[in-house]
Amino acid sequence: MSSQPQSAAPDLSIPSYLNADNLGPWGNYLRQVDRVAPYLGSLSRWLETLKRPKRILIVDVPIELDNGTVAHFEGYRVQHNVSRGPGKGGVRYHQDVTLSEVMALSAWMSVKNAAVNVPYGGAKGGIRVDPRKLSRGELERVTRRYTSEIGIIIGPNTDIPAPDVNTNEQVMAWMMDTYSMNQGQTATGVVTGKPIALGGSLGRREATGRGVFVVGCEAARRTGLAIEGARVAVQGFGNVGGIAARLFQEAGSKIVAVQDHTGSLYKSTGMDAAALLEHVAKTGGVAGFTGADPLANDEFWTIETDVLIPAALENQITEKNAGKIRTKIIVEGANGPTTTAADDILHDKGVLVIPDVVANAGGVTVSYFEWVQDFSSFFWTEEEINQRLERVMREAFAAVWQVASEHNVSMRTAAFIVACKRILMARELRGLYP
Ligand code: GLU
Repeated sequence: MSSQPQSAAPDLSIPSYLNADNLGPWGNYLRQVDRVAPYLGSLSRWLETLKRPKRILIVDVPIELDNGTVAHFEGYRVQHNVSRGPGKGGVRYHQDVTLSEVMALSAWMSVKNAAVNVPYGGAKGGIRVDPRKLSRGELERVTRRYTSEIGIIIGPNTDIPAPDVNTNEQVMAWMMDTYSMNQGQTATGVVTGKPIALGGSLGRREATGRGVFVVGCEAARRTGLAIEGARVAVQGFGNVGGIAARLFQEAGSKIVAVQDHTGSLYKSTGMDAAALLEHVAKTGGVAGFTGADPLANDEFWTIETDVLIPAALENQITEKNAGKIRTKIIVEGANGPTTTAADDILHDKGVLVIPDVVANAGGVTVSYFEWVQDFSSFFWTEEEINQRLERVMREAFAAVWQVASEHNVSMRTAAFIVACKRILMARELRGLYP
């Protein structure tokens, strides 16, 4: 009879979904974290915390389609870290959503919330679905069933969803209602980015784009670039890229190139961002806009600009196109648009990259204001919101700029140093339980 060892050696290997070889956004995030380790001093003892999401929930989302059949979608909610406060982060609807992507997005929320010092951990959700193929009724049923399924881990004090790619105020209203119906009481603070009539905040819809503009101006000021007359290119013309483009144009910049999933446009003298926003609202994309010339998609990255704003999806600037980019400043409106390999190429070329975790933090900053207003049932003016937003963004930029100069590192590594120190300090002070 073969005897089993009394106690088998524990399997310490990393689960496959956490694998650092992952070439997608999660692998990119892990490589970004690794660059911070040398700057954390004794806090580096806790670094592994950041490489493992605290909680992952995968849910089946079945709905009845309008044609009477039943369709199943896969949904996720990942709470990456809650050391500094409840989980916080958006919900994305996209046909390519994967668990590894949502994990990375949740981790970037932890870093972002710490970088701008709002009292939240990081979380993110998503459903693998193409919302453009759903009717309004189907979209509502997907949203309500998903909210019910993740209802066991979300709440105003535990994890607060918000809009992200392809979700909006209406989706947040359905989420708030579903959660509230299940709780038996109206809980406005369970999501942010709601309609104003349901406890939403003035300025929230524009906050991410406004934040991109504010840090873009800070970067320009410190590098001696004039915003007036600056050539700006924007990838993604939704709530982030479109609003940022409009604000840059209002400040005198020229929007010379844009790209989205429908095509690319070019106009050397600058196109009218407000008119393009209207066109996108009507047709669903930039293609067909008559106020600029069509551009081949590959050429978008080679256009000479002063400010380039990737505001679409992850992994857009890679080692394949980074070498061709001719710009002075990149302001990351999207989450994770640049791979670490591309980061190094851009750094060597002297391009200043303002990382996502600072550049697009305006959205979650005003989400924080919304949550605070919901709790106190006292609402601020748009002017107050915008002033506070600008202050938070400027202070975060300044703190990261200083760390970047002190250690002679990129703005991304500096932002991770500032943020990871805050998260791991909280981790250390709380201690391990039990
Ligand atoms: N989805 C946005 C982001 O990626 C906002 C998240 C929020 O407001 O919670 O930062």
